[in-house]
Amino acid sequence: MAVKKQARHALKLTSLLLAFLLQPCRTFAEELTWDQNGYVLYCPCMGRFGNQADHFLGSLAFAKMLNRTLAVPPWIVYRHHTPPYTNVHVPYGEFFQLEALSAYHRVVSLEDFMEKLAPEYWPLRQRRAYCFETAAQRSADKKSCPMKDGNPFGPFWDYVGVDFDTSVLFAGISFSSHHQPQWMKKFPPSEHPVLALPGAPAQFPVIEEHVGLQRYVVWSDKMVEEGEKHIATLLLRPYIGIHLRIGVDWQNACKMLKSGEAGPHFMASPQCVGHNRQTALPLTMNMCLPDLTEIRRAVKLWTKRTSARSVYIATDSESHSREIEKFLKGKVKVVSLEPDSAQTDLYILGRADHFIGNCVSSFSAFVKRERDIGHLPSSFFGMDRPGKLNPKEEL
Ligand code: GDP
Ligand code: MN
Repeated sequence: MAVKKQARHALKLTSLLLAFLLQPCRTFAEELTWDQNGYVLYCPCMGRFGNQADHFLGSLAFAKMLNRTLAVPPWIVYRHHTPPYTNVHVPYGEFFQLEALSAYHRVVSLEDFMEKLAPEYWPLRQRRAYCFETAAQRSADKKSCPMKDGNPFGPFWDYVGVDFDTSVLFAGISFSSHHQPQWMKKFPPSEHPVLALPGAPAQFPVIEEHVGLQRYVVWSDKMVEEGEKHIATLLLRPYIGIHLRIGVDWQNACKMLKSGEAGPHFMASPQCVGHNRQTALPLTMNMCLPDLTEIRRAVKLWTKRTSARSVYIATDSESHSREIEKFLKGKVKVVSLEPDSAQTDLYILGRADHFIGNCVSSFSAFVKRERDIGHLPSSFFGMDRPGKLNPKEEL
């Protein structure tokens, strides 16, 4: 009898404990109520991760400016070289904490929006697309937003499960805060509850005003765990992290510098030459595409300065780990992974004792922003002290 009672008691405790453990996900998922102030939806349809991240910060600011909830899209990961070659859509929360964004502004994942809110509040056959008149010019009838034309547009909205029924065109308005009143007036949430856009309502690269929003982009527990495991098992502190963006696509892009087609502002370069065009520092070839001589110079300099015991190389191409090992005379451990996801590289670079990035790369820019928030030091190939010209400091 006593045993039975004890068993029942234990069972009750277990179910209580289970109910308690299940509580957080239940409340987070079920408490979704419709926001009368409306929503912003967009496809992160330009570029790979670095570009999408820049666009994300601007879009977050845009949603806040209009006081609409941001439906946070998944990351689009391209598989140009691996079967089945179709894009992967990775929910924001896989890499970063969705909840951490709430400290800045109201958000919901696009997946939750579609599953829990859209069926009732954004029903089929009432889904309007919003775009610039100039974008609609490309469509057959010149009046439709090209929401699902081509890759990644079609696959993205298919993943979300959306077809658009009508289009609303606009012109003479931009995503900048100058136009806030026009947006509010043109599209009051009562008549336009869901602003669904073909691309991010933001500039690339991210404008200076929005760089600090990086603080709300916080790694997910899963990513922290994985990243820390690699750091603990492979690296010895202090370690420097370097980003070698040197693949063929990049070599071609950097050719524009040689031919003089690009000014100091070229892709992510405002992060090191300065955001102001008038006062921007020159952008050199070494900053865009460091050769082995520059890689050696910068890595030796920072290894010495930080007394680094290891070097972590993240790259889109060759790691040059042999050469680097050699010029460090075998005294420093040189590590590179071939991670399944680029985010693992980003995480490890973000935690380094010193980071040497590529000024023109938005992939590097992600790391630089994150480190700036945490007051961790960074430099670039071709520029040891970002924002300062020709640093000729003593060791
Ligand atoms: P950007 O082109 O350098 O401005 O940055 P993007 O992120 O837009 O595009 C570069 C893409 O190349 C990344 O998203 C990655 O997929 C890949 N890539 C570039 N550098 C690295 C790297 O160091 N490690 C890994 N794993 N992937 C990289
Ligand atoms: Mn790119």
